[in-house]
Amino acid sequence: PVRVRFCPSPTGNPHVGLVRTALFNWAFAKHNQGKLVFRIEDTDAARDSEESYGQLLDAMRWLGFDWDEGPEIGGPHAPYRQSQRMDIYKDVAKKLQDAGHAYDCYCSTEELDARRDAARAAGKPSGYDGHCRDLTAEQVEAYKAEGRAPIVRFRMPDETITFTDLVRGELTFTPENVPDYGIVRANGAPLYTLVNPVDDALMEITHVLRGEDLLSSTPRQIALYKALIDLGIAKSVPSFGHLPYVMGEGNKKLSKRDPQSSLNLYRERGFLPEGLLNYLSLLGWSLSADRDVFTMDEMVAAFDIADVNPNPARFDLKKCEAINADHIRLLDVKDFTERCAPWLKAPFAPWAPEDFDEAKWQAVAPHAQTRLKVLSEITDNVDFLFLAEPVEDEASWTKAMKEGSDALLRTAREKLESADWSSAESLKEAVLAAGETHGLKLGKAQAPVRVAVTGRTIGLPLFESLEILGKEKTLARIDAALA
Ligand code: GLU
Repeated sequence: PVRVRFCPSPTGNPHVGLVRTALFNWAFAKHNQGKLVFRIEDTDAARDSEESYGQLLDAMRWLGFDWDEGPEIGGPHAPYRQSQRMDIYKDVAKKLQDAGHAYDCYCSTEELDARRDAARAAGKPSGYDGHCRDLTAEQVEAYKAEGRAPIVRFRMPDETITFTDLVRGELTFTPENVPDYGIVRANGAPLYTLVNPVDDALMEITHVLRGEDLLSSTPRQIALYKALIDLGIAKSVPSFGHLPYVMGEGNKKLSKRDPQSSLNLYRERGFLPEGLLNYLSLLGWSLSADRDVFTMDEMVAAFDIADVNPNPARFDLKKCEAINADHIRLLDVKDFTERCAPWLKAPFAPWAPEDFDEAKWQAVAPHAQTRLKVLSEITDNVDFLFLAEPVEDEASWTKAMKEGSDALLRTAREKLESADWSSAESLKEAVLAAGETHGLKLGKAQAPVRVAVTGRTIGLPLFESLEILGKEKTLARIDAALA
């Protein structure tokens, strides 16, 4: 049975790269009727935080992911927080050392640096040179006498490692490119290099799907896995698939620190989880050449890791918004109105709740649903209905109110006065006719009307908006603009 894992470290805020990794693992598990293990890699006390842990869980739930084993729900391999599994790692490290798969390394950072620089200068491989691989008992004693505390280093086998990456195909690593590496710090703290594959082995992970940035650790982990099999701790080596890099602005790798990569930002702007996930799925994958909007069920049904494109994917905010907009259109209107609720309250909407008119909101919501890219845009799009006077947007005013605007507004007011206010079509006819009087097409004629009534040049379908606002208020606002 397929068992995959999502194993973030709780440092900082959740970011889109992490969400993409979670998504591909989740879709892979679902597609294969497998299990998703959620594990928290919090062995770095200096960088991990409870706050970040809470945010991760919250993010996973907001996105709608479910997991079969992990924090809060437990499972047969509990605990799922590495900080609670330290004894396990200590035990495994000792077994690896006893069996000769790992050794104490006494090299100081300065010594390592000096030898690396020398190797580089000589054009030789600059990784760890195996200095402490086979120390004699006397050498060990001498180092101890100097008061040196060793790290534990894994002994890489002297062989070429080849594996078939699920995304990239066959990859080969020669020994000089994969030197012995540290698995336990001098203070006894186990490192990612140890705890990650050890837990993958103990949790019986069958497929490791993760970012390309971790590709270089894969040959090391495969070697460690083989040692764990030798010790009877692992059963087999999992398959690996490395998801492509995500590039941001200027074709640079999208980094965790990039504001564009913060998940919270997308939540605050009112992306729908399904819209965001749909877009993130396109970072390396596609449902078909002619469809980029689809549901997560459709993704799950179609997801095959072999279809993931190894080339870097480009994060395109405009496209992300466009896809989210499509998902907003797909909601049923009741769902849409409910999801807008946070942005129709303080602090986003200072006029609510006192001036909030539920009937008006229900009337305008279907029109808003046809226009928004993200839900937070709702506030500015409907405030004209709830404010006593429209906002004064300087830029809009300058743009729309030109010479001749007053004359147009006067005519429009006249025609609107006698229009049928139960029909948006009739209001449109009125503004159209006013435009004709002044030699203006509808677009030009409606701009000053829109600004007078809503305060902005951009907004919801105008004539429906006027109808909902009502005759009295609309005419009063035109009067105010003319005054
Ligand atoms: N905790 C690691 C990270 O956050 C997990 C990497 C992996 O998937 O192996 O990058």
